[in-house]
Amino acid sequence: MSERFVQQVEPEEVFAALADETRLAILQTLWESEVETVSFSALRRAVGMRDPGQFNYHLGKLAGRFVTRTAEGYRLTQAGKHVNGAIASGMYTAQGAIDPIVVDHSCRISGESLLLLYENETVRIECDTCSSCPSGWEAPVPPAVFAGYDRNEIPAVVSQYLRTISQHAINGFCPYCNGWMEPTVRASDAMDVNPESSDERSEMPDDRLRDQPEVRFDCQRCGAEAKLALDHALLLGDPAVVSFHHENGIIVREQPIWEFSELSPENVEIERRNPIRVGVTFGIDESAITVIVDEALNTETANTL
Ligand SMILES: [Zn+2]
Ligand SMILES: [Zn+2]
Repeated sequence: MSERFVQQVEPEEVFAALADETRLAILQTLWESEVETVSFSALRRAVGMRDPGQFNYHLGKLAGRFVTRTAEGYRLTQAGKHVNGAIASGMYTAQGAIDPIVVDHSCRISGESLLLLYENETVRIECDTCSSCPSGWEAPVPPAVFAGYDRNEIPAVVSQYLRTISQHAINGFCPYCNGWMEPTVRASDAMDVNPESSDERSEMPDDRLRDQPEVRFDCQRCGAEAKLALDHALLLGDPAVVSFHHENGIIVREQPIWEFSELSPENVEIERRNPIRVGVTFGIDESAITVIVDEALNTETANTL
């Protein structure tokens, strides 16, 4: 990847440039402005600073990084927009807990309705009965995602949000810095084995049944990490899996994300562990499709029945 586009700047320098009320007011004024580019004098008036020299000094601290100067005036760079977005996404933190919401779907073990819980910026889906609910999972969600929605709209919003950020990672973009996210398919943490014993382990059929392969996405720029169950990654991103469901009357795009457990495969077979090669079979009635996945999340369709 070309380094031309990646400027190396010390983080403390970046944050020092922002650690000033006037500069944040400049960014916010540009963000809220009706026009994209604002002249020096209009910007100075809007921010409410009398002294042009001092105003120019603060603008200079933002220029080239958060603000671009053109012949007509100043406008936000992408980084400047991200700063405003970051401030906005934390605005609702104070109201950041939600009373449990009953989701229109049941746990496959207890049969109880699943609940959506939100605490510490994390959504949890689980039933009330199981001690470790097999239909449950959790995912980080910033509080601003919920802002402005009614309680009854929240499950749909959560589902769409998680679908969107998962797709973002599958497409190779880090949700934090937009750097390249590299996928690695692996057996889940619990089933991780060291390479020396992998041959031995793969011959144990009981192990295979409990294997839950996942995709780990690692951002090559900022180091952020995200995980997604392999079957969910295939349901969200593999055209053969999506069209198989479509041909059998299920539009995956319209399924809330907690209903993916119903679409999830009954048969996951780890054909090889190092490097990993997994066969994932999705079945609907008499039809089935098997997708072979390698370590880098490349897929090929093995067969369709
Ligand atoms: Zn349960
Ligand atoms: Zn990143």
